Amino acid sequence: MSNERARPRILVGTTNAHKIVELGALLDGLGCELVLPSDVGLAGFDVDETGETLMANAVLKANAFAARSGLPALADDSGLEVDALGGQPGVRSRRYAGEDASDADRIALVLANLTRVPEAKRTARFRSVIAFAAPDRLIGTGSGTVDGVIDVAPHGTHGFGYDPIFLVDGHRPTMAELTPAEKNAVSHRSRAVESIRPVLEAWLDGQHLDSSLPS
Ligand code: IMP
Repeated sequence: MSNERARPRILVGTTNAHKIVELGALLDGLGCELVLPSDVGLAGFDVDETGETLMANAVLKANAFAARSGLPALADDSGLEVDALGGQPGVRSRRYAGEDASDADRIALVLANLTRVPEAKRTARFRSVIAFAAPDRLIGTGSGTVDGVIDVAPHGTHGFGYDPIFLVDGHRPTMAELTPAEKNAVSHRSRAVESIRPVLEAWLDGQHLDSSLPS
């Protein structure tokens, strides 16, 4: 008989390659096997983000991926909130410049909308909400933010989305000039992972308990 315990599988419910890499690094060492939609025949599976908040959309995505795959699933919904734009783009961060727009288009629109806004009023934050669901129920959620200031021009090639115009705590360099490890040390996503970590650990403990019971 083997003493090795099978690692429970958790589906990362996103098709965003950047989020997959960041979440993979942030969840490393948790003691589970992370699987991707493409690993379970769900490469083209997408969920309409019809919620009005990041929380609603994260829960929608985690529930949908878990129900469809039969596996517990994690999903992140995230966005940039700019104070001078009344919190926009917020929950519409991915669609801010239209459905088919690029990261460069979205950045250009934010900068254009802030043209006459002085540095002291360019405050912003990234927010991430993460939901964890079993196929038949929501298990828990977590969230995290990082404060910053919107730069006047994009700089840097790491990361994704609005990273090239986001100065963490208002200081250079931009988030896109940080290495992946440096971004993960301060990001909204890493804080959201820390906030949901106890929920994941409790769920994993329950799985190990189940598998050690005589059948
Ligand atoms: P969604 O969570 O897939 O709806 O999309 C979130 C959008 O917010 C992304 O497409 C990015 O434009 C932006 N976003 C989310 N997280 C980050 C980040 O870590 N850096 C930069 N932009 C982000």
